[in-house]
Amino acid sequence: MKISVIGTGYVGLVAAAVFADYGNDVLCADIDAAKIDSIKAGKLPIFEPGLEPLVEHNIQAGRLRFTTSNAEAAVHGDVVFLAVGTPTATDGSADLSYLYQAASEIGRHITRPTIIVDKSTVPVGTAERITRIVGEQTRVPFTVVSNPEFLKEGAAVDDFMHPDRVIVGTDDAHAREVLHRLYQPFCRTSDRILFMDARSAELTKYACNAYLAARISFMNDMANLADSLGADIELVRRGMGSDPRIGNKFLYPGVGYGGSCFPKDIRALLTTAREFGHSLEIVASAERINEAQKLVIVRKLRQQLGGDLAGKTFTVWGLSFKPNTDDVREAPALKIVRTLVGDGARLRLHDPEAGKNFLAGLSPHVAAACTLAADPYDAAEGAHALILATEWREYRSPDFERLKRIMAGPFLFDGRNQWDRHHVEALGFRYAGIGR
Ligand code: NAD
Repeated sequence: MKISVIGTGYVGLVAAAVFADYGNDVLCADIDAAKIDSIKAGKLPIFEPGLEPLVEHNIQAGRLRFTTSNAEAAVHGDVVFLAVGTPTATDGSADLSYLYQAASEIGRHITRPTIIVDKSTVPVGTAERITRIVGEQTRVPFTVVSNPEFLKEGAAVDDFMHPDRVIVGTDDAHAREVLHRLYQPFCRTSDRILFMDARSAELTKYACNAYLAARISFMNDMANLADSLGADIELVRRGMGSDPRIGNKFLYPGVGYGGSCFPKDIRALLTTAREFGHSLEIVASAERINEAQKLVIVRKLRQQLGGDLAGKTFTVWGLSFKPNTDDVREAPALKIVRTLVGDGARLRLHDPEAGKNFLAGLSPHVAAACTLAADPYDAAEGAHALILATEWREYRSPDFERLKRIMAGPFLFDGRNQWDRHHVEALGFRYAGIGR
C-alpha cells in the first residue's frame, strides 16, 4: 500500500518505519528540515529502542523515504496519516494549529481519492473539522478517519507491531476495508481492530489516558496515606494487583506522571468537559494530585535535612519522564530540579539518554546550578543526597557500597520504590521511598 505519514516524531517515525517494515511503500514528511536531514544522514532525532535499525533497514530496502514536502506526501499516499503534535494551548485546550495546517496542505495537493487518517490525539469533533478544512482546498474525493495511537514511548516499536487493539473511527465502508487490510497483519492472532464512529474513537483515546492517569494518582494518594499510617504501599499494591478485577499494571506509586501525553491530554479533556458543562471530578483530582506528587520527594528531603537546602549538593538519577526514552516533556525531574535550585541547592544529574534534552528544558539560571555527568557514580560524587526520579534499568541494582564511599551524605530518596530499604539501611544510608 502507498502510505504517507505527516510528522516524524515519536508516533509518525515509528508508524512510518513499521508500516514500511511490513512491506508498504512509505513516504514520511516533516516541516522540520533539520530532522529530515538528520534522518537521511542516518541519525534519528529521537531515541526509541529498536527504531534506528528498523529505519535504516527499510531505507536500504527502498520502502521508506523522507521529505520536507507535504505536497509530495499528499501525492504519494493512498492513505495519508497525520501524526503531528497537538500541544497544550494557553487556555488548556489542545492546540490544533499544526494539525489544521497539515490537513490544509494535504487537501491542496491530493490528486486522487485519498483516505486521510488522523493519528494525533485530538478533541472530539476534530475529524469533522479536518473534513471541512480539506474540503475547502479540493474537489478530489477524500474521507477523514480517526485512528488514535496507543503506543508507549520506550516500547513504541513493539507496541506498534503488536497493538492491544487498533481503533478505527469511520462511517466510510471503503476506508474501513482499506484500514482493515493495512492493520490486519498486526492483529493476526485475534480480531483486535475495533471499528466505531470518529467521535467515539476520539473520546476513547482521552478516556484511556485519563483512566490511566487516575489510577496513578489514586496509588500516589494511597501511598501518601500509607506513609502517615505506617503501612507499606508496595505490599498494598501487590495485594490490590492480585485481584483480577483490578489487575497489576499501572499501580506503581512514584513521583507523578509526566510525558508528552497524559498531562496535555488531561488538560484538553478537562477543557472540553467544561465547555459542555461537565466537571469530570475524578480526572480533575488526578491532575491536582499529580502536580503535588512531583514535590513529595522534595518535601521529604527538606524534612530530613532540616529545612535549609542552600549550598547543599543533590544528585538526581533519571531525567526523562520514564525509562527508555530521551523525552523530558513535563518530566517530574524538571519540577524537582527547578524547586531544589530555587532552594539554593546545586544539582548533579545523570540520565542514560535524556541529559541534553533535560538541560535544554531548563532556564539559564537553573541550568547554571546543574552539572550533567556522563556516569551515574560521577554524578553522585560529593552529594548530600541521591534522588531516584526515573527507574532506568541501570539504577535498579547500583553499587551501594561505592555510593556510600563517594557521597557526602547518607540520604537516598527512592522516588520509584526500587531499592531494598533493609539492605541500604544496613549499609548506613537513611532511606525514604514513596508510601513505605
Ligand atoms: P512530536 O512532537 O514528537 O512530533 C511531531 C512532529 O510533527 C514534529 O517533528 C513536527 O516538526 C512535525 N510537524 C508539525 N507540524 C507539521 C506540519 N504541518 N507538517 C509536517 N510535519 C509537522 O509528537 P509525537 O509525540 O509524535 O505526537 C504526535 C501526536 O500523537 C500527538 O497528538 C500526541 O498526543 C499523539 N500521541 C503521542 C504518543 C507518544 O507517546 N509520544 C502516543 C500516542 C499518541
